[in-house]
Amino acid sequence: MTFTTWGRTFTAEPARRAMPRDEPELCALVARAAQDGMHVRAVGAGHSFTDAAVTDGLLLSLDHLRGIESVQRLPSGGALVTVAAGTRLHELNRLLAANGLAMRNLGDIDRQSVAGAISTGTHGTGERLGGLATQVRGVRVVLPDGSVRSVSDDDPDGSPERVLFEVARLALGAVGVLAAVTLEVVPAYLLRSTETVRPWREVVDGYDELVARHERVDAYWFPGTDRMLTWCNDPLDREEAAAHAARQEGPAGAVRRLGAGARTFLDEEVLANAALGAVMRTATVAPRWVPQVNRVSAALLGDRTYVAPSDRVLVTRRRVRFAEMEYAVPRSELAGVLTELAAWLRTSGEPVPFPVEVRCAAADDVWLSTARGRDTAYVAVHQFHRMPRERYFAAAEEIFVAAGGRPHWGKLHTRTADDLATHYPLDDVAKVRAVVDPDGVFRNRYTDRVLGTP
Ligand SMILES: Cc1cc2nc3c(=O)[nH]c(=O)nc-3n(C[C@H](O)[C@H](O)[C@H](O)COP(=O)(O)OP(=O)(O)OC[C@H]3O[C@@H](n4cnc5c(N)ncnc54)[C@H](O)[C@@H]3O)c2cc1C
Repeated sequence: MTFTTWGRTFTAEPARRAMPRDEPELCALVARAAQDGMHVRAVGAGHSFTDAAVTDGLLLSLDHLRGIESVQRLPSGGALVTVAAGTRLHELNRLLAANGLAMRNLGDIDRQSVAGAISTGTHGTGERLGGLATQVRGVRVVLPDGSVRSVSDDDPDGSPERVLFEVARLALGAVGVLAAVTLEVVPAYLLRSTETVRPWREVVDGYDELVARHERVDAYWFPGTDRMLTWCNDPLDREEAAAHAARQEGPAGAVRRLGAGARTFLDEEVLANAALGAVMRTATVAPRWVPQVNRVSAALLGDRTYVAPSDRVLVTRRRVRFAEMEYAVPRSELAGVLTELAAWLRTSGEPVPFPVEVRCAAADDVWLSTARGRDTAYVAVHQFHRMPRERYFAAAEEIFVAAGGRPHWGKLHTRTADDLATHYPLDDVAKVRAVVDPDGVFRNRYTDRVLGTP
């Protein structure tokens, strides 16, 4: 059966597909494929735009390996939660909420599997917050002989277990199939979300101040307009949350009503609406209308504020299919990058009906994280999946690379291991791969390109 990515960017015909019922069956399938000389890849929700999940060998869906295995409460009020690797983020959010818990941060959708999301460095936004892989405290990983290794950040520094953990929590599936992931999660929290339309220049020049003032800032810019929608999300403190709950006639009622009301203009009208799909289809046949369409879309944007549980605020729905490229650039380069991108869009006349998205993250120490070692801004360009994107993405990539950018592992780019060797400890990653996977069972074309051939 053909495998197709969500963005319709890659299709593949794996030689074998399987959906193990449990972990022992997963181990047996991996071992059998390895003995047969096949490559092995796990797939989550297929939401990567790159060929990260593509294989010519065995494609494993972990859709039966779902749910929370254990919850270990921490003195902080948070918990270490071990979750089966195939669990989708929307299921995890629901299960965590039922335990009074929540993810510290999320990306802007919740369709991905836990393993797929961490394996490509999925991130949200917040200058003091890291991507999902920074929330991983341990993993259980299946190796080519079908054995299972549990490794975590409790393993001694420099030990084989610890280095395997450091790679496995963001490895593009290159060091084995994750069967379970232990995440550090926090007590459930409410966010106050404020959508504000601001002049483009104000956001670009005032970005540092804006992200210092708000815990999480997401900015959307419709090319060809001089406005940005900023989406600022801040946690309610204990008193505000109590007052809020009281206004909603009790916590249960509050969560129910807030959840129902959490869909906002940004979500309904800008990113997910069927009307946007119609606009995209129109833009496909009449690209010259795109600047007017963008001006109308931007003019419709308004200011609004609401409060809701974190996962309801952070996650939007994306029903209109698109292709995406996103680069992580040093925070200090952001203004220059956006200015150059605006200049290219102005002079090229390229029809781009999708907004450019700007987010940020704190520096982290995950070996293959796009925010490794530096405070980071993320700039994402999108194009409707039926419209040509090559010229736009090539121009954007040139600007991103010149600014020292690192591509999101799950989004379109043309970089190779040679290009990326200055950004990541690829030699150390290769050593770990050589130990755990000497025959290259977990290779695919994408890992060969971006991590190098083992
Ligand atoms: C609409 C949309 C919105 C998005 N929003 C964001 C966002 O806000 N922030 C962001 O950073 N990214 C975002 N992404 C990118 C997305 O989060 C990543 O590409 C993510 O990897 C997709 O998860 P998945 O479960 O679909 O993984 P897949 O694409 O299926 O797989 C991704 C990689 O993980 C590997 N993998 C999967 N399961 C396992 C396993 N059990 N063991 C080992 N390896 C495994 C695969 O082999 C592959 O290499 C978005 C993508 C889309 C389509």
